[in-house]
Amino acid sequence: MNNVRVRFAPSPTGYLHIGGLRTALYNYLFAKKNNGKFILRIEDTDQTRFVEGAIENLINSLNWAGITYDEGVFIENGQIVEKGDFGPYIQSKRLDIYKKYVDELIEKGHAYYCFCTKERLDKVREEQKISGQIPRYDGFCRNIPLEEAKKRIENGEEYVVRLKLPHNRDIEFYDMVRGNITINTSDMDDQVLLKSDGYPTYHLAVVVDDHLMGITHIVRGEEWLPSTPKHVYLYEAYGWEKPTYVHLPTVLNKDRKKLSKRQGDVSVEDFRNKGYLPEALVNYLALVGWSPEDNEELMNLEEMIEKFSFERVSKTGGIFDIDKLNWINGHYIRNSSTERLRELAIPYLINENLIDEKFAHENTQWLDCLVETLKESISTISEIPQKSKFIFSEEIEIEEELFNEFLNNENAKIIMNAIIEEITNMDKFDLEEAKTFMKKIQLKTGIKGKNLFMPTRVALTGSEHGPELVNILYLLGKDKIIKRARKVIEKLS
Ligand code: GLU
Repeated sequence: MNNVRVRFAPSPTGYLHIGGLRTALYNYLFAKKNNGKFILRIEDTDQTRFVEGAIENLINSLNWAGITYDEGVFIENGQIVEKGDFGPYIQSKRLDIYKKYVDELIEKGHAYYCFCTKERLDKVREEQKISGQIPRYDGFCRNIPLEEAKKRIENGEEYVVRLKLPHNRDIEFYDMVRGNITINTSDMDDQVLLKSDGYPTYHLAVVVDDHLMGITHIVRGEEWLPSTPKHVYLYEAYGWEKPTYVHLPTVLNKDRKKLSKRQGDVSVEDFRNKGYLPEALVNYLALVGWSPEDNEELMNLEEMIEKFSFERVSKTGGIFDIDKLNWINGHYIRNSSTERLRELAIPYLINENLIDEKFAHENTQWLDCLVETLKESISTISEIPQKSKFIFSEEIEIEEELFNEFLNNENAKIIMNAIIEEITNMDKFDLEEAKTFMKKIQLKTGIKGKNLFMPTRVALTGSEHGPELVNILYLLGKDKIIKRARKVIEKLS
């Protein structure tokens, strides 16, 4: 495909929803696949919804996820900057452009000034509801002569500009996911294009910008599908070539409802804080509403680019399945380097007061062993503190039943005594020493296999399952091993 240009155009309302990240991802994959350009535009024409820091948050979330773009809004040295030949890329900086295009539409007779007050509009809507009609603008100002309207504006009357839809006309467009779509203008409203505060509505701004920025494919959530006929009509009214539309199925929860903030984590930041790896979240999101032909589930960005096509995007909503995300995240965790896992784990351990900065700095080998030991059993990095509590705790609880099964016997006592005796005489107890330690206890006691390992494991961890005993020995260290063995002996005597 030639000269593909796509855009992700979020509104800065506070955070990046994971559905938004998926939209950005599909745009990115499509652009890369076609050697096209991907643009980040900020749609901030609804000033009532503006949230401080939201643009930075959006960009940081995209950066974290590894979704890069070629033009638009970036952060450099902590500052918001714009790059590209089609700017400004922040809509609130383009007000004069919209004004010009609104004027053009009015002159051409495709839009009109409307002076209706909120009270009047409310009243009309109320009456329409009572008589069972779909509420919409009743066209009261549609036929005010332009000269008269201009005079009223000069006299200081407040106004908006509305789209003047022709009556009973079919609007047609093609959507790559949904095929051909036709809507009659009798089912549409004379949409406000320019608000009384001088800002355009989304509908006008999106069309003007997509056209001026040379956007070829509009890839966005299906919640915008009902607005698309208005946009298509605007392209026709201006005499511009229409882009191709791609409306993506909504990301749904297991009850097939829209994933919303009220039910828990929905922002990219939430997932980041929970300890999901960016490549895992991105890999998983790619599969919410799309699958490659070979049905492969684990893919890096390169592989996704290779396999991506809109033909395989489903029409029905994509279900967000946290279990599957956890499974994928676990996979990426297990395939991460020890160093990366250590660096990711440190803030969580510090946050839970299990270690401090100094400890983190001085105990690299120990922390490496910790993350290597735990990585098999976690699906997010944030689980590390909880899973390592049995190592950090001074005391552990051993359930009565477990104690009776594994420790309430003479053998256990012999093992515990041997452990204490052996380890007390060692001046160093690193990973090397831990590796040969149990062999020494075996020689010393003559007890081996399960009969040796199970009592030791239960005594040291309070559990019959868990990671490699060698790692546990090393991670606990001399003092804790002695302490835990002693506690068992005390209980037995
Ligand atoms: N500003 C819209 C949003 O935040 C973008 C819609 C579009 O991509 O056209 O969802």
